[in-house]
Amino acid sequence: MPTLDPVAIDALLPQTQCAQCGYAGCLPYAEAIARGAAGINQCPPGGDEGIRALAALAGLPYAPLNPAHGAHRPRVLAVIDEARCIGCTICIQKCPVDAIAGAAKVMHTVIASECTGCELCVAPCPVDCIALVPVPRSHPAITRPRAAADHARTRYQARLARLARLAAEAHARKKGSRRPEAAAPAPSAAPAIGTPEHKRIAIAAAQARAQARRERAGSP
Ligand code: SF4
Ligand code: SF4
Ligand code: SF4
Repeated sequence: MPTLDPVAIDALLPQTQCAQCGYAGCLPYAEAIARGAAGINQCPPGGDEGIRALAALAGLPYAPLNPAHGAHRPRVLAVIDEARCIGCTICIQKCPVDAIAGAAKVMHTVIASECTGCELCVAPCPVDCIALVPVPRSHPAITRPRAAADHARTRYQARLARLARLAAEAHARKKGSRRPEAAAPAPSAAPAIGTPEHKRIAIAAAQARAQARRERAGSP
């Protein structure tokens, strides 16, 4: 087997970070392929087209999608029923590409243009108010899929960097505190109600809702 570059493999993957391949995200799966630990047929979102691209890059024979990892399905988009949303923020914490706007006790909205349809937000919602709908034909995933995947990778990496920074800051605060009870609260994806960050997110959520309505109105 030739030496494979995980970054080049990752560049062919859909970047939904859905973990259906059995790895924590697209890059870990790419790394597993590169070291010969995973087959090229484990990514349902990439489907047959993705497998053929990986086969060509890796110089490996084509193999049909392994059904143990799921089936290839048309691209979907998450939509939140805002009337039922209780603002618990769980979906925000699950979304790998920060495609959900909202804050504690604020109804949440999916930013349609950023949603990769990974479905990771759906099952954890305690009131089952997130549905999956077909993506509109105008969605970047349809009109320019490779650029959309690259954009999703950038957002995923930015999220990881932000979470790592928050964790490091919380750790530093905790270490700097002489009294444990005075330690700053652990970082959370949901800012406290009434803080400037909470207000900023609430405004962003309202703007995202307006944008989502416009995008849905333009959908087929
Ligand atoms: S999009 Fe494919 S490679 Fe990426 S996490 Fe999902 S299944 Fe794995
Ligand atoms: S909104 Fe839901 S389906 Fe869309 S990218 Fe985020 S977690 Fe995935
Ligand atoms: S998980 Fe469900 S109820 Fe909680 S904020 Fe998200 S959409 Fe609303």
